[in-house]
Amino acid sequence: MPLGVRMENTMKITETLNKGKLTLSFEVFPPKNDTVFESVKAATEKIAEMGPSYVSVTYGAGGGTSDYTLSIAKNIKERFGVPTVAHLTCVSSTKEKVRCMMDNIRDAGIENVLALRGDLSRDGTIGEYKYAIELVRELKERGTFCIGAACYPETHPESLNSETDINYLKEKVDAGVDFLTTQMFFDNPLFYSFMYRIREKGITVPVIPGIMPITNAKQIERARLLSGSFMPARFIKIANRFGSDPEAMRQAGIAYATDQIIDLFANGIPHVHVYSMNNPVVAEKILNNLSDIIGK
Ligand code: FAD
Repeated sequence: MPLGVRMENTMKITETLNKGKLTLSFEVFPPKNDTVFESVKAATEKIAEMGPSYVSVTYGAGGGTSDYTLSIAKNIKERFGVPTVAHLTCVSSTKEKVRCMMDNIRDAGIENVLALRGDLSRDGTIGEYKYAIELVRELKERGTFCIGAACYPETHPESLNSETDINYLKEKVDAGVDFLTTQMFFDNPLFYSFMYRIREKGITVPVIPGIMPITNAKQIERARLLSGSFMPARFIKIANRFGSDPEAMRQAGIAYATDQIIDLFANGIPHVHVYSMNNPVVAEKILNNLSDIIGK
């Protein structure tokens, strides 16, 4: 019996979110090359077997893993009946390649796309797209996709300030976004304050908070660099005390993430996305911790 709440096959994420039940979904990332394909595929299958409400599959900004994104997403959907979201980035790509990828996503029967700009290359060169909104517009024109996009409770690192960032977010949503997923954060009040500000601006689509369980010391610095997230004192104390003991850090990191998720549920957020980093053990432990809560 799966631990999570499995939704029916082929379903748009917005329908899943409208069920009104407390649900969890997981993010996985595709392999970088053929050598590790089978082991990554097996890890993602273990995660799908747990019956999350959906699984999202990331996409390499340079396009190097685009085929793998699709094959992992298609496999999860077809073998386990779990809805999938294919991430798609545009900044370092041509229109031709992005359009071809949209066709491939549609042909693979994947209905949900997370439309992203992608990170800029080190030299700052951009191709035929500048911002994610252009991708949203093209996906919307096609008419068939449920379109997701990214948002940043602590402001996107390139933005001048949070107000500008939220204004651009509003434009992006108005161009056709059906749901938003947040960058990871470790301090829930920052997320609640962001929600208040975007709702005030008239952004009404569902917003799915993204929670990253930090289960080893290396991840702490990486998360800080990648997302610039604020680490609350309570989290820093846990990392300082347990960071050098892998088992203890894993347990404490899972407990911290579980605590964040329970707080989000208790504050009226029905759905949480977990950055599970292809780690079925972490996914399972979080689901176990929430086994009497999920689905209620
Ligand atoms: P945009 O929405 O285009 O915003 C980028 C910046 O431009 C922001 O500062 C925004 O305020 C600003 N901006 C927007 N419009 C304008 C405008 N008209 N004029 C001036 N400024 C503007 N990356 C990957 O490579 N692969 C992935 O699979 C992936 N998955 C992700 C999933 C989530 C949930 C999140 C939060 C991020 C993910 N990323 C991924 C990272 C993402 O690609 C980067 O954060 C990227 O830097 C911004 O992408 P975006 O879609 O938010 O861009």
